[in-house]
Amino acid sequence: MKWTNLIIAVILFSTSLAGQEIDPKLTEVWEPVPEKVTPGIFPSNPPSDAIILFDGTDLSQWRKPVIGYGGSMAEIEALAKKRAAMEAYEEKDADWEVKDGALIVVPGKGHIETRKAFGDIQLHIEWLSPADPGKEGQGYSNSGIFLMGHYEIQVLNSYENPTYPNGQAGALYKQSMPLVNACRPPGEWQSYDIIFMAPKFAGDGSLLRPATVTAFHNGVLIQNHYELKGPCIYRGEPYYVPHPEKLPLILQDHSDRVRFRNIWVREL
Ligand code: MG
Repeated sequence: MKWTNLIIAVILFSTSLAGQEIDPKLTEVWEPVPEKVTPGIFPSNPPSDAIILFDGTDLSQWRKPVIGYGGSMAEIEALAKKRAAMEAYEEKDADWEVKDGALIVVPGKGHIETRKAFGDIQLHIEWLSPADPGKEGQGYSNSGIFLMGHYEIQVLNSYENPTYPNGQAGALYKQSMPLVNACRPPGEWQSYDIIFMAPKFAGDGSLLRPATVTAFHNGVLIQNHYELKGPCIYRGEPYYVPHPEKLPLILQDHSDRVRFRNIWVREL
């Protein structure tokens, strides 16, 4: 060691002894080590830890809803009572159409739901509105993704198709309109990437934490950590009704031939 370096070392050592230097190691966090995940070649491809809900081939991950969906708070309350009273149930297979790698709503068959229940998730889903110039407003390619069966992110053709903005594509239905309209024209595939945090309830049913949603439409931020006021309902004002920590994801039959593909989730 050169004598100049030695002098510098002595100075540094003495200043640290005097309490002037904070060891940077004190703020290094080494545990836990983030789990290694291999991303898809494109961001829309499922990463290695994703649960595949639809890969274009079959409906094995889906069934007809066991409890169902409520469009008003009275219906939501009734569903909660039905759920509490229910013991065993028979699963009925989902019967929407699978064609050309897409899952297609069959009007009249009703909603479908995942066999598995989810709480906090990252969800990727792609959808397509078939071009149909005769349709308009809420009647043009309406479907929806009901997180936990209660919290809907709207699926609708909102490309040059006006409707109430808190009910357009990417809206948290009747609660939060999208920050921007990132819709592609009918006939083109588009995507949602959603981060959903489930509501938390105390033992007495009181709300500890509201559900939140962050969402991207075709890669564009449309919902930024929005705190839901309760279920996304068609009629009336929402409020929270306690429910289990995990519930199935529902896709809506709103009488339009909307298509879905490449559906996967990561549990958070
Ligand atoms: Mg809808």
